[in-house]
Amino acid sequence: MPAYDYRCNSCGREVSLFYKSYKDYDDATPTCPHCGSTDLERIITGVTLQTGGRNYSGMSSQEMLSVLEGGNKQEVNELFRQSGQDAASTVTQADTIKRAKDSAAGSSKPATSSE
Ligand SMILES: [Zn+2]
Repeated sequence: MPAYDYRCNSCGREVSLFYKSYKDYDDATPTCPHCGSTDLERIITGVTLQTGGRNYSGMSSQEMLSVLEGGNKQEVNELFRQSGQDAASTVTQADTIKRAKDSAAGSSKPATSSE
């Protein structure tokens, strides 16, 4: 169940609204449960570019790639540190993923599966 945090611009309170589905969220107008105002501002949580909150070792290859592509030196360094790999091998890995992604995007037919 998606939950979103808002700040009410009318009464200044922070509210969390829950939706049954993402479609509900799309259809709904967020309304402050305290004062009934619809003048709510999304508070973006869980998205941080600061190191510390992020668990790089638990990242998927895709996420690692996006960090590398993002080019944030601090993030990249932290990724290397947490993944325990040296920079060269991680970059090689990212390069491999990138090529796989590019070739996958280039062909509409699924590759022959060995499964
Ligand atoms: Zn309010």
